[in-house]
Amino acid sequence: MLNRSSSDDCPFCHGESNTLFQKNQLPILECQSCRHRFSKSPHCAHDHVTIEFSNDYFSGGTGCYDSYDAQMPDLKRQGKYYSKLLRRFLKSDTGSNRVLDVGAAAGFFLQSFIDDRWHGVGIEANAMMAAHGRNKLGLDIRHTTIEQFETSERFDAATVVQVLPHLIDPVASLQKIHRHLNRDGLLLVETWNCKSWTARCFGKWWHEYNPPSVLHWFTKSSLSKLLEENGFQIIEIGRPTKWISLGNGLAIVRKSMQDSKLASALLAPSKLIPSAFKLPYCFDDVFWLLSRKK
Ligand SMILES: [Zn+2]
Repeated sequence: MLNRSSSDDCPFCHGESNTLFQKNQLPILECQSCRHRFSKSPHCAHDHVTIEFSNDYFSGGTGCYDSYDAQMPDLKRQGKYYSKLLRRFLKSDTGSNRVLDVGAAAGFFLQSFIDDRWHGVGIEANAMMAAHGRNKLGLDIRHTTIEQFETSERFDAATVVQVLPHLIDPVASLQKIHRHLNRDGLLLVETWNCKSWTARCFGKWWHEYNPPSVLHWFTKSSLSKLLEENGFQIIEIGRPTKWISLGNGLAIVRKSMQDSKLASALLAPSKLIPSAFKLPYCFDDVFWLLSRKK
């Protein structure tokens, strides 16, 4: 551990934190009380969203996606899987239940819920992606953030897939979701596990240590604790079946290795393989957690 900074209190328990290491010129901090790992965005909440989720994030390989459009089949498959999972735990499956998808992007994931007879609303911070979902797919995707989302609508379930670690204030966001859920409403979170074997093996070069795009690194127990403290009861934890395109995998590795010459040398042979080539994601660093509003 490099140093201790009393000004960087834990956003969850307000305990003191230590700097574990630096990444992208930003400190990766660990709370000495609850062990939550986090970083601080150099931007205010509005600028953080605008800068980190610009159009480049979703295309061209400068962000975490080589091409978001190419993800459509996998996102639709993932949506179908989670739709079935949530249906199993609905207290009352009316066949017209309402789901709120936080971080809906272009709506491919949400589309699978609609196909499975849900009524769905998506929230998306990127205007281009929200417009794509509205205009091309006919979905109800609103250009806003969960922090700014205000509605009198109530939902039977909310999905937060690969979103929570990007938020400046996950606690306020979870409390907002809690308010918008019906009694016994379900919350599904999918995120990365910083205490997985994969994360431990890669150390500071783990792909998710990518601030300021990513600001929080959870474990199964830390996420469970956070949800329980904010009005949710844990139902089940599992691992999703994921596929990743070679192009996206390379975009993530390039980003993790900060576009170094070593990354270019290691990735050179991959240019011989089409970037759309799909690989099963067999690492243990991703999980989902299903909870219910208490
Ligand atoms: Zn803490």
